[in-house]
Amino acid sequence: MCLFCKIIDRKIPSKFVCEDEYVFAFEDINPQAPVHILVVPKKHISTMLEAGPDDNELIGRLFQAANKIARDRNIAERGFRLVINCNPDAGQSVYHIHLHLMGGRIMRWPPG
Ligand code: 5GP
Ligand code: ZN
Repeated sequence: MCLFCKIIDRKIPSKFVCEDEYVFAFEDINPQAPVHILVVPKKHISTMLEAGPDDNELIGRLFQAANKIARDRNIAERGFRLVINCNPDAGQSVYHIHLHLMGGRIMRWPPG
C-alpha cells in the first residue's frame, strides 16, 4: 500500500483537512506556502498518465474540492496555485496522484 493510501486509511497520521466519498485532503508535511494542502483521490492512481477517461469525473472532483478549500481558507479571492507533478522531471516523489493547493503568499512564475 502506498504512503498516501495509508494516510487515507489513517494508518499513518496526517493533519486532516476534509474528505468525501471520493477525495481526501490533508496538510503537506513540508509546506512551501502558508497554505499547502494535498488533495488526493481515494482511488490509487500512480501518476496523471495513469488517469484515464473513466477518471474524468474523479479528477474534476479534486479541483472542486480544491476550490472549496481555497474559499474556506480565505485565499480564493487573492489567489492560489494548483499543481500536479508527473514523473521525475517534474519532481513527483509520491506515486499517488495529488493536487497541491498552495497560497497565502505571492507565487512566483516560472516555478523552479
Ligand atoms: P510531489 O513531490 O510528489 O509532487 O509531492 C509530494 C508531497 O508530499 C511533498 O510536498 C511532500 O512534502 C509531501 N509528503 C511526503 N510525505 C508526506 C507525509 O508523510 N505526510 C504528508 N502530510 N505529506 C507528505
Ligand atoms: Zn496510493
